[in-house]
Amino acid sequence: MKERRILVTGGAGFLGSHLCDRLVETGADVICLDNFFTGSKKNIQHLAEKKNLEVIRHDLVEPIFLEVDQIYNLASPASPVHYQYNPVKTVKTNVMGTVNMLGLAKRVKARILQASTSEVYGNPQQHPQEETYWGHVNPIGPRSCYDEGKRVAETLMMDYHRQNQVDVKIARIFNTYGPRMAVSDGRVVSNFIVQALENVPLTIYGDGSQTRSFCYVSDMVEGLIGLMNSDDFTGPVNLGNPTEFSIAELAQLVLEITQSKSEIVHRSLPQDDPVQRCPDITLAKEKLKWEPVTPLREGLERTTEYFRQVL
Ligand code: NAD
Ligand code: UDP
Repeated sequence: MKERRILVTGGAGFLGSHLCDRLVETGADVICLDNFFTGSKKNIQHLAEKKNLEVIRHDLVEPIFLEVDQIYNLASPASPVHYQYNPVKTVKTNVMGTVNMLGLAKRVKARILQASTSEVYGNPQQHPQEETYWGHVNPIGPRSCYDEGKRVAETLMMDYHRQNQVDVKIARIFNTYGPRMAVSDGRVVSNFIVQALENVPLTIYGDGSQTRSFCYVSDMVEGLIGLMNSDDFTGPVNLGNPTEFSIAELAQLVLEITQSKSEIVHRSLPQDDPVQRCPDITLAKEKLKWEPVTPLREGLERTTEYFRQVL
């Protein structure tokens, strides 16, 4: 791959750190920017010796002036627990942070990819979700800071594209999991595996009939890089694994893989928790020749191995 300077915001987070790994491997000059809210230095520690990785501690809400060719804009807490901890800050990160990155992209003529989310579909009334669906989002609920923040971020991307010809790409990422999720992340896969390994009860919110479709992190990273390097295609494009599971099924699979004796307990379902979620990835297959290759069982086994070492 030819020499490029690539900025990854949120680069010390779960997904960002895996993306930095792959980009560093290609020989590109990578700048990992993070404020370490949910990310950690441990996630990128192994890259410390690499000459082509630079780490900047910076809060994306403030402007920053750099010279780069590509920007992957991943900075934003992604777990409901963390994005609801300081909702005003979540909106600022997704709106002001995205404006700052688009301003940078415009000034230096960089290509920019926005890490959007399946949450732009809210609690979807169309199933599976296609990119043409406009969504069903509560604008004033506890998830709105994230859902609406990401929707405005998409709006900004398209407005900078139309108004200022910024070269943009929008990835709508569906639930992604894997090694380097924080033990305290709070999302379902890490919660269940950590609970199972610690032999404490697995906490299913609601009756467990709600569904999600889980994508292993290496598949997601390939999708993001594929989108960034695609020409004449802005998206939005769904990136995710189209195999759908109920949360109760996920709990059983985790118990089986970890051979845990943990019980299952039920907790109340959080407000506005989407009932079902599954990506239609026809567009990604057609435009990016991309689809996930890691089955859930295999990905869960690798993730379990990681948490065994961490705990
Ligand atoms: P994560 O919480 O592990 O990573 C987010 C990173 O952004 C962290 O390192 C955090 O410290 C950093 N960050 C947060 N606010 C910042 C700010 N103001 N300035 C600088 N850095 C900041 O989450 P993740 O799962 O790696 O998600 C990465 C991106 O992908 C997010 O934008 C998220 O919305 C998006 N996404 C992820 C998923 C998923 O399932 N993992 C699904 C949909 C979308
Ligand atoms: N969930 C659960 N137990 C947990 C954490 C989450 O049952 O310990 C449920 C949550 O209510 C949701 C699903 O698992 O229905 C996925 O939650 P997560 O926070 O991973 O991501 P979301 O897709 O809701 O953003």
